[in-house]
Amino acid sequence: MQITLLGTGDTTGTPTPGCDCETCERARERGIERSRFSVHVRNERVGESLLLDASPDFRHQFLTEEVPLPDAMVISHIHFDHLDGLGNAYRLFDDLPVHAAGETDPTTGESVADTIRGKYDYLDRITVHDHAPFEPFRTCGLEVTLVPVDHPPLVCYGLAIEDPETGAKLSLTGDTSYDVPERSMAALADPDLLLADAIVPASLCEHHPIGGRHHDSEGVPRTFGTKHMTREGALSLADRLNAKRTRLVHLAHFYPVEEAFEEPLAVDGERYRL
Ligand SMILES: [Zn+2]
Ligand SMILES: [Zn+2]
Ligand SMILES: [Zn+2]
Repeated sequence: MQITLLGTGDTTGTPTPGCDCETCERARERGIERSRFSVHVRNERVGESLLLDASPDFRHQFLTEEVPLPDAMVISHIHFDHLDGLGNAYRLFDDLPVHAAGETDPTTGESVADTIRGKYDYLDRITVHDHAPFEPFRTCGLEVTLVPVDHPPLVCYGLAIEDPETGAKLSLTGDTSYDVPERSMAALADPDLLLADAIVPASLCEHHPIGGRHHDSEGVPRTFGTKHMTREGALSLADRLNAKRTRLVHLAHFYPVEEAFEEPLAVDGERYRL
């Protein structure tokens, strides 16, 4: 499979509109973007493509990157930066399958699949398919498994994506704290490529109203606030998952400029073949 990172930023992206911080200025100078999160997975064996999350930057991403429109989508959770690009499906698709978790979120009283159906009930070109966590399903010739992660107060799912023919495996943490349940860790383990939420470096936790959590033995916080991993948390998780290769994604413009474009922080347009 061929992986294209369409969107590697957090919810405001980099550069952030109206922001003149050094990181945003450097990104503008160098023509680098971290748009809102989305990953394109092309399965050349069957000639189909799967889109992971529907970025609000969908149109810009598909005009910028040379990738075909998807044959199906998977949605990790209902936050704006992962779902609100779905409206772009209007008049672009005849019938687009959208896959999402079907278990009820106690916070909203409905599942991710229900919320998508409700929010986009005017879009008759999409069909939402419900899936139980940990139960693999097939789409675009790939085996996809949704696994619960920790992104309070909403449910959110990481993704394991495997090619049953070649054994290649892509894992995504989804938006999550460091507190990923063990059963989900087992499903995400041993990927050829891991895409891990690393919104800010641990040093910035002091600026969060509730600070950092899930400290390591040296006192470094692996969670920023409650919802996302720090860079250090994401790298530690990658170690525990035994990832062959790791790219850090869902990155905020708050990274200091001298750290913001260092390895293994991803930028839009990166491509990997697994
Ligand atoms: Zn900025
Ligand atoms: Zn989120
Ligand atoms: Zn997000």
